[in-house]
Amino acid sequence: MPDYDLLVVGSANADLVIGVERRPAAGETVLGSDLAVHPGGKGANQAFAAARLGARTALLARVGDDGHGRLLLDSQRNAGVDTAGVLVGGAPTGVALITVDPSGDNSIVVSPGANARLAPADVRAAADLLASARVVSLQLEIPLETVATVVEVVRTGRASAGAGTGEGGTGGAGTGEGGSGEGGPRIVLNPSPPAPLPAEVLAACDPLVVNEHEARFLLGDDPAGREEAPETWAAALLARGPRSVVITLGAAGALVADRDRTVLVPSLPVKAVDTTGAGDAFTGALAWRLGVGDDLETAVRFAVRVGAAAVTRDGAQESFPTAEEVAAR
Ligand code: ATP
Repeated sequence: MPDYDLLVVGSANADLVIGVERRPAAGETVLGSDLAVHPGGKGANQAFAAARLGARTALLARVGDDGHGRLLLDSQRNAGVDTAGVLVGGAPTGVALITVDPSGDNSIVVSPGANARLAPADVRAAADLLASARVVSLQLEIPLETVATVVEVVRTGRASAGAGTGEGGTGGAGTGEGGSGEGGPRIVLNPSPPAPLPAEVLAACDPLVVNEHEARFLLGDDPAGREEAPETWAAALLARGPRSVVITLGAAGALVADRDRTVLVPSLPVKAVDTTGAGDAFTGALAWRLGVGDDLETAVRFAVRVGAAAVTRDGAQESFPTAEEVAAR
């Protein structure tokens, strides 16, 4: 029996935010507001979102042996994330330096720091942790070779688990969904920031979760990417090998596609205040629901409610809802 509904392998950053009247030009110094420090990074955000909803969640990440690292570990633990897999040291904690002006436009400099040192060897050393999850969720704020190693370790584990105990086989019964039915965790990948993906990584995604920008990036020169039809993007992305695709469409909800069908799941009408982190809340929620056996469409129907709740409040992690708040919508 896997120990975790969800293992997130990804980034953890401290977001350092200063409000300014005007973002500085080259060579210019401006005065700004007091500094606000928020826990962030796509991996930490997804794990936080899932744990806040009640998921049995673990995080495999790397932070520095510094105050920002301790802030991230504390926020993850407070949300209920198992942080035993978070490695400490090797470089300062990843940082995003953010200046934001009164219109909401921002300028961001990211120092990946320890995130860039989460290495393939760290993944291999955590093979037992990987095997203990029903779903492994990935993004691209850690090295691509580390992401590829996660896929390889999961695939190898599956192959060696070939005798098929049926363990974890509750996912997507009768729908053909659910990598966990093959004895290893199912892989969810949000390729953000977007980068070209190796074929083995694409083939493992179930689903590949992209927003419009990421979908168009991955489609590159493909004429499908120049159309204004998410159904066309989904079909073209599926042809690249993932088992399923989810395209998030902001206030319009999300499109779900696999080999058999394409379904638009509408969002809830809400008054959006701040969309920061909505994609991470959506993906964390989606990955959790897949881990507890929902089929993909059902999981997306839940995730759009989580995404909608997250945009009604300021901030990223602090805007993520509890299960009770989602149920009340
Ligand atoms: P971000 O980069 O802001 O975190 P994203 O671009 O990765 O987000 P979006 O498609 O903007 O992803 O949002 C993810 C999900 O959140 C959407 O599929 C939708 O369910 C929900 N969502 C986002 N914006 C809104 C909105 N204005 N109203 C309702 N739901 C929303």
